Amino acid sequence: MDAMANTKPAHATSADIVIEDVALRYGKGSSAVLALDGISFDVKRNEFCVIVGPSGCGKSSLLYLIAGLEARTSGSIRVNGKTVSEPGPDRGMVFQAYTLFPWLTVAKNVEYGPKRKGFPAAERKEIVEHYLNEVGLSKFADHYPSQLSGGMKQRVAIARALANDPEVLLMDEPFGALDSQTRHSMQKLLLRVWDHTKKTVLFVTHDIDEAILLADRVLVMSGRPGQIKKEIKVDIPRPRNMDLVMEHDFIMLKREILELLKNDDDEDH
Ligand code: ADP
Ligand code: MG
Repeated sequence: MDAMANTKPAHATSADIVIEDVALRYGKGSSAVLALDGISFDVKRNEFCVIVGPSGCGKSSLLYLIAGLEARTSGSIRVNGKTVSEPGPDRGMVFQAYTLFPWLTVAKNVEYGPKRKGFPAAERKEIVEHYLNEVGLSKFADHYPSQLSGGMKQRVAIARALANDPEVLLMDEPFGALDSQTRHSMQKLLLRVWDHTKKTVLFVTHDIDEAILLADRVLVMSGRPGQIKKEIKVDIPRPRNMDLVMEHDFIMLKREILELLKNDDDEDH
């Protein structure tokens, strides 16, 4: 079986995401909503790319399209050269709402993908241990999601996504429901995991500090229909920490992004 050749938790090569002139219309006729229009951008291999934009501008929709959970109306989406037409293990998704299986233990949640792929038990055990260790939850393998805090649930969700060894990690406001202290420790954890795994990450947030802290590049979207308004490269050296928010470069970037979002708001009203 094909999966047998790839049972180690070694990492698949990261993909390029190439998006060309994508539009998405929800519904038909007079009630149709053009959620996205003329969306084109690339995400480079190993890049950490962050999308910010006003509520309702289509950020989630865009991730769903790349995940293959929603069908685009027009345009092309390729991940590692392959046209996206359905969900696949090459793309892992982490949502804002905790989406663990409540009836499965932490370990069984993480094991879910490798099990579906038909990996033998010994390999699955190795994968689960590796990724639970990566997110610092080895001691909680036998706990159930209901016994975990929000931050811990998202760490399991990250481990579960990584256990499939995806080429691309799609994250839709994954820390949006967490308190600020937990959020900061999750940001640090994610950057460490990203550094270890070198995945290509496309991360959605409405928190501009979070965007600048995490990103190699920030894509600023405008709303109705959602479009990419500007791409901003974040040249601040890594490792980055929260002290950065007081520094000149950080503040200038933040002002630029806030200004772009504010203009969009003005155009709306
Ligand atoms: P964001 O994540 O940026 O807040 P969404 O992608 O959730 O934005 O939504 C973009 C637009 O598409 C919004 O106007 C929203 O109301 C609309 N929309 C999202 N999902 C659906 C759906 N399943 N059916 C109809 N309209 C939708
Ligand atoms: Mg959303």
